[in-house]
Amino acid sequence: MTKNSCNTQRRYVIVGAGMAGILAAIKLREAGKDNIRVYEKADRIGGTWRENTYPGLTCDVPSHSYTYSFEPNSEWTRHLPPGDEVQAYFESVVKKYQLEEIISFNEEITDCQFNNEQWQISTSKGNTDYADFVIAATGVLHHPRIPAIKGMEKFKGKLFHSARWDHSAVLDNQRIAVVGTGSTGVQIVTALADRAANLCHYQRTPQWIMPVVNAEFSEAEKALFRNNTAALKRIQNDPELEVNIERFSVAITEPDSAAMHEIENIVRQNLESSVSDPELRERLRPDYRAACKRLIYSETFYQAVQKSNVDILTEGVEVIEEDGIRSLDGTLREFDIIVLATGFHADRFMRPMQITGENGITLEQAWAERPTAYMSVSIPGFPNLFMLNGPNGPVGNFSLIEIAEQQWHYISQLMAPVENGEYRKISATQTALDNFDKARIAAAKKSIFGSGCQSWYLDSQGVPATWPWTRAQFKAAMHKPDFSAFHMI
Ligand code: NAP
Repeated sequence: MTKNSCNTQRRYVIVGAGMAGILAAIKLREAGKDNIRVYEKADRIGGTWRENTYPGLTCDVPSHSYTYSFEPNSEWTRHLPPGDEVQAYFESVVKKYQLEEIISFNEEITDCQFNNEQWQISTSKGNTDYADFVIAATGVLHHPRIPAIKGMEKFKGKLFHSARWDHSAVLDNQRIAVVGTGSTGVQIVTALADRAANLCHYQRTPQWIMPVVNAEFSEAEKALFRNNTAALKRIQNDPELEVNIERFSVAITEPDSAAMHEIENIVRQNLESSVSDPELRERLRPDYRAACKRLIYSETFYQAVQKSNVDILTEGVEVIEEDGIRSLDGTLREFDIIVLATGFHADRFMRPMQITGENGITLEQAWAERPTAYMSVSIPGFPNLFMLNGPNGPVGNFSLIEIAEQQWHYISQLMAPVENGEYRKISATQTALDNFDKARIAAAKKSIFGSGCQSWYLDSQGVPATWPWTRAQFKAAMHKPDFSAFHMI
C-alpha cells in the first residue's frame, strides 16, 4: 500500500494478533481510528494461547482477571481457565469486534524503517506498507529454547518442544520423558501422570509449588454472571483477590517483608505436608527463595510425582540416543516420547524483525547491552513506535491483560500530541531512559528475582529485566505520562 496524501487519517500498524494486539485494535477503533492493519505471522489469532496446546495447559491467573476489563466473560468454567478456553475467548472477542477484516494472516513484518517521519514496512509476502504509528504487540515467550543436548536427531521416537506439541503422538500407556520444571513442565507432568505407562521428569532445578484450588464454576454461578452484570463485575474485580495480588507484588519487591515470609511458609508447608517420602521431598526442595523463579501454582503436582509410574530424575541429561536419554550417571532410559519443556528465549520481543529508527540506528544497536524501554513502552530514537508487554514490564504472576490495558492507557496519551498535529514525532529521551534504567536496575537487584536463582526473568547480565516496583506503582506510572521524559518535535 502507498500513502494516500488525501487521507488525513493516521495509519496504525499493529504487529501481532495476540492478546495485546487485539486490545490495541479494539481501543483504536473505539477512539474512531479506522486506518489500522494488524500483521500476524501465523494463520490464527491468539499468540501464546495459539502456540501452546500441550496437555494440562492452564492459565495460572484467575480467569475473571485474565479477561479484558471491557469484555467480561460469564462462561469461564474454572477459577483457572484451561488454555483452549482462553484461546476460544480471544477468538470470540475478535469475532465480536469484527477484527478479522483488518488482520493480515500468515504475513510477518520483516523490516520496519523510520523514513520521512513515517514507518516503512516490509512483510514476508513481499508487500510494503507504511504507518504513522507502529504498535509492537509481539509477546515475550514465543521463541522456543531448544537446549543443545547431543544426539537429539538420533532419537527414533517423538521429540518436540512444549510449544510445538505434536498432536499425532499417542500419549496413553507410553514411556514419556519431560525435560524442564518450569510452569510448563509441571503442568505437563501433572496432566500425563495418569496416562503414561511411565513418566520421567528430568529436573535440573526443583521448584517451589504454591497450592491452589482450581474449582469449577457451577451452572448457577455462570447463570448469575450471565444475568447479573453487577455480579460479573464483582468477580472480575474481586476485592479479596486484588488485595492478594497487591500483597504478592509487595512481597516480590521486598524480599524481607512479612508478605514474602508468608509465601515462603505456605510453599514450605505444602512440600512438607504433601510429599511423604523424605528422600523424594529433599529432591523436590529448592535451595533458593520462593518466587525467585516464577512461582508455580499447582493443585496436584506433588500427588502426580508420587505415583508409582512417575520418577523425578536429578542425574542430568548427558545425551539423547536412538532409544532414549542417557543420564550423566550413565543410565539409559528408554522412551517413546521426549518433551522439551525448556522454556523460551525471553529477550527477543519484536525480533527478528529488523527495525531501524532515526539516523539509521537499529534495534540491535539500541539493545546491544540489553533490551530496555522507557516505562517499558518507548525506545529513544524510535519515534511513534510503542510496545505492549515489552521489556521491563511487570511479568511475575500478574494478568498481562491488565498490564497491557494500563500500557495502552499511557501509550494513547503519548500518541495524542502527534495525532492532533501539535507534534510530528515522539519517543522517550535518552536521559529519561538512562535514569529509568538506573533506578530500575538498582531496585531489580533487590527484588526477589535477584535473590540468587537462574530464571528467564534475568537479562544476559544476570539482572532481573522485570518491573521491579509494585503493581500499584506501575498503575500509577501508567496513569499519565510525564511529557518531559519525551522528545517531541
Ligand atoms: P521456564 O520457566 O523457562 O522453564 C524451563 C525449564 O527447562 C527449567 O526448569 C530449566 O531448568 C529447564 N531446562 C532448560 N534447559 C535445560 C537443559 N538443557 N536440561 C535440563 N533442563 C533444562 O519455561 P516454561 O516452563 O515454558 O515457562 C515459561 C513461562 O511461561 C512461565 O514462567 C510463565 O510465565 C509462562 N507460562 C505460564 C503458564 C501459566 O499458567 N500462565 C503456563 C506455562 C508457562 P533450570 O530451572 O535449571 O534453568
